[in-house]
Amino acid sequence: MVTPEYADVIAASVRIRELALKTPLKPSLSLSDRSHSVFFKLESCQPIGSFKIRGAANKILSLSADEKLRGVITASTGNHGKAVAYAAGVANIRCVVCLSNLVPANKILAIRALGAEVDIFGQSQDEAMARAEARSHSEGLIEIPPFDDKFVVAGQGTIGKEILEELPNVRTIIVPVSGGGLAAGVSLAAKSIDPNINVIGVSSAACPAMKLSLEAGHPIDVPELPSVADSLGGGITLKNRITFAMIRDLVDEIMVVSEAELVSAIQYAFWRERLVLEGAAAASLAVLLRLNQQLPSPVVSILTGDNIDPQRFIEIVSERRPDE
Ligand SMILES: *Cc1c(COP(=O)(O)O)cnc(C)c1O
Repeated sequence: MVTPEYADVIAASVRIRELALKTPLKPSLSLSDRSHSVFFKLESCQPIGSFKIRGAANKILSLSADEKLRGVITASTGNHGKAVAYAAGVANIRCVVCLSNLVPANKILAIRALGAEVDIFGQSQDEAMARAEARSHSEGLIEIPPFDDKFVVAGQGTIGKEILEELPNVRTIIVPVSGGGLAAGVSLAAKSIDPNINVIGVSSAACPAMKLSLEAGHPIDVPELPSVADSLGGGITLKNRITFAMIRDLVDEIMVVSEAELVSAIQYAFWRERLVLEGAAAASLAVLLRLNQQLPSPVVSILTGDNIDPQRFIEIVSERRPDE
C-alpha cells in the first residue's frame, strides 16, 4: 500500500514523540463569541518553527537499520530541509542537503548548525534537486520526499489526531495546501474519526497547484509567482502518487487567498493575537478573516509555521495596525 491509513497515523504519533511536540490548541478570543468558537493549532511552536518535523521524523525513524547507516539526502532550503536536518541530527543519522549557489550564506550556516552536510552545486533549485537524486542513486543515500510519501503524510496526520483528541466536537478544520501532505494527513485522521468534519484547504493565488490540478482531473504544472507565502510555492509533481487522490477524496473544498489577504492576516495575527506567522500559516487565518461566522463551529485553524524573515515581518506589521 503506498497510501497511508489511519493506523499509520497512530503508529506515527508514537514514533515521533521524542522529536515533535504536541502543540497547543489555543482559543482565539478575538474571533470567538458565545455561540461561535475558534481555536489555533500552533505548529509554529515546533522546535524548527513548523509542522514539517512530524513527517520528516516519521519517515526518518521508519527507515531500516541499514538505511539509517546509509544516511539521508534532500534539496529543500525551506521548512522541509530544516526538518530533515534536525530529525536526522537528533537521531544521529548522516544528512546531506544539496543547495544551489543562489542560496544565501545565512541559510547555509543555519542548515550546517542543525548538523547537516551542505553540498553546494549548480545555479538553481532544479540543479540542486537533480544533484540530490544523483547522489541518492550513486551513494545509496535515502531521499526524504517533502509531501508525496506514505510516512510523511501519516506524520503530518498526527496533527488531526491531536485536534480530535482535544476537541472531539470540532466541525471545521482549515489547513494550508501546497504539495498536500499536510491536508491529506489531517483529513485522513479527522475523517477516520468523524466523517462529517468539514476540512477546508487553502492555497495562495500565487501558486494554486493543487486546486488547478483537481479542476483538470490530474496533476498539472502551474507557473509560480512570488508570494509572501513562500512555503506554499512549488507544484504537486506530475508523478504524484498519493496526495492528489487523497485530497480529491477527503478535502471538502480548496479556497484561494490573495497576497493582500495574506498580508492582512500576518498583521492581524500579530496585533490582535500576539502571534508571529509566516505567510503560509497566515493563509489559514485569512480564510477566517473572510468568512469566520459562516463556518460551522468549533473551528480549528492550523497555523503551520513562523519562519518568516524578521526584517520582512517588521515591515509588514509596521505598515498597518488592524482595528481593535
Ligand atoms: C510545507 C508547508 C505548508 C504546506 O504543506 P504541504 O504538505 O506541502 O501541503 C504549509 N505551511 C508551511 C509553514 C509549510 O512549511
